[in-house]
Amino acid sequence: MDKNRKLILIFLISLTIITAIIIKCKQPDKSEDLYIKLYLSEQHQVIELPLEEYIIGTVAAEMPANFELEALKAQAVCARTYALRKIIENHSYPLNADLSDDIYSCQAYCPYEEFKRRHGDKQDKLWNKVALAVNATRGEVMLYDGKLIDALYHSTCGGCTADAEEVWGNSVPYLKAVKCQYCMQSRFYNSKQNISWNDLRKQLNLKERIYEIKIIPYRPAGRAREVIINGRHFSASSVRHDLDLPSTWWQFKTNSNGIIINSRGYGHGVGMCQYGANGLAISNKSYEQILRKYYTGVSLEKIRL
Ligand SMILES: [Zn+2]
Repeated sequence: MDKNRKLILIFLISLTIITAIIIKCKQPDKSEDLYIKLYLSEQHQVIELPLEEYIIGTVAAEMPANFELEALKAQAVCARTYALRKIIENHSYPLNADLSDDIYSCQAYCPYEEFKRRHGDKQDKLWNKVALAVNATRGEVMLYDGKLIDALYHSTCGGCTADAEEVWGNSVPYLKAVKCQYCMQSRFYNSKQNISWNDLRKQLNLKERIYEIKIIPYRPAGRAREVIINGRHFSASSVRHDLDLPSTWWQFKTNSNGIIINSRGYGHGVGMCQYGANGLAISNKSYEQILRKYYTGVSLEKIRL
C-alpha cells in the first residue's frame, strides 16, 4: 500500500512538471497541498507534512535566516527542486519515507520549535521572513531539458564554483564552474589551518615520516584532485574528510612543525554558492538572476502542487 502511495506521488510530480512546461501555469492552486513523508533521523520516526511547509523548515535549516530575502527565495527554489528530484528518483530512505533530514543523503530540516530555541527573541521575525521567501516562490522549480535539475548548493565557493565533473567525474551541463566575487563576507572565503606532522600522520593513518606532500589540482579552477604523500595517492575528498578541512581548494606550506593549509571556500563548491547568493541579493539581484548565475541554462517553472 505504502509502495503504491510513493508511485502515485512520483506520477503526480512528473505530471505536474509536464503540465507546467506545456501550459506554463502561473497560478498554483493553494487548496491542493502535496503531502510528503519526512524521516527524522534523530527521532527515528516519520512525519507527514505539506511539501511547502517542509520547504520552510529546510530553508530555515540550510541558510542563515538573516540573509537577504532574495537569497532566501533562491534557496527555497533550490530546496524544492532538490526535494522533488529525490522523490522522482525514488530514493530509498528509512521507514519508506519520501525524504530525510539527514544532510548526507538529503537536506537538513529545522522545525519551528527547534528554530525558536536557536533564535530566541528574533524567532518570529526571522521565521516569517523564511516563510515569506518560500510562499513568494511557491511551486517554483528549476528545469533543464524539461527535467528537474540536481539543485546542489554549498556554503561558500571562495571565488569560483566547481564544475560537477571536477568533484564527481560526471559532466552536468547546468553545473559548470562560474566565477563568484560575492561570497567574500563569508569567514570561509579564505581560511587557514595548522596541522602538526604528528596529527597529520595520525589523521591520515600513516606510520612513516612524511617527506613529500604534493597537490594535484584541477585546471583552471584549482581545487585539488589528489594529494600525493610519500608517493602514495589520496583522493582530495578523503583528505578533506580525514583532516576536517572546509573544502578541497588548498595551498599547502610546510615548516618544521607541520603543515599550514590555506583553504578557499566551504563545501563541495558545486551549484549555488549561498554566501554568493546573499552577496548578489545585497547588490540588488533578484532570486531568478541569482539562480541563473549558478545553474547554467536552466528554466524556472511554476508547478501546481
Ligand atoms: Zn561564491
